[in-house]
Amino acid sequence: MKSPKIVFRKNPEFTKCPSCGEFATLRKSKARTPWEQFVKKYTPFKYYRCKNCGWRGTIFTYKVTKTSIKNLAGYLFVALLAAYIIRIILKRFIIK
Ligand SMILES: [Zn+2]
Repeated sequence: MKSPKIVFRKNPEFTKCPSCGEFATLRKSKARTPWEQFVKKYTPFKYYRCKNCGWRGTIFTYKVTKTSIKNLAGYLFVALLAAYIIRIILKRFIIK
């Protein structure tokens, strides 16, 4: 069974630069410090540099869509429903 996607990866190389606003000028930048390596490895933020204006910083590499919000709401509903059912079962059979 294929699970619905919550987030979609985007490629910031084709989005506009947060500093100068030019399109397709961002290139991947290497992590310089251990902190940057940590960020690069364990978070959805990646380091990019603009070849037009020299801006360098982190960019969030996932995009949230309408479908992903719908899927997330669905998961939350199922989780809450499960918690509610477990609570009823616990009340009935364990707590007396
Ligand atoms: Zn720029």
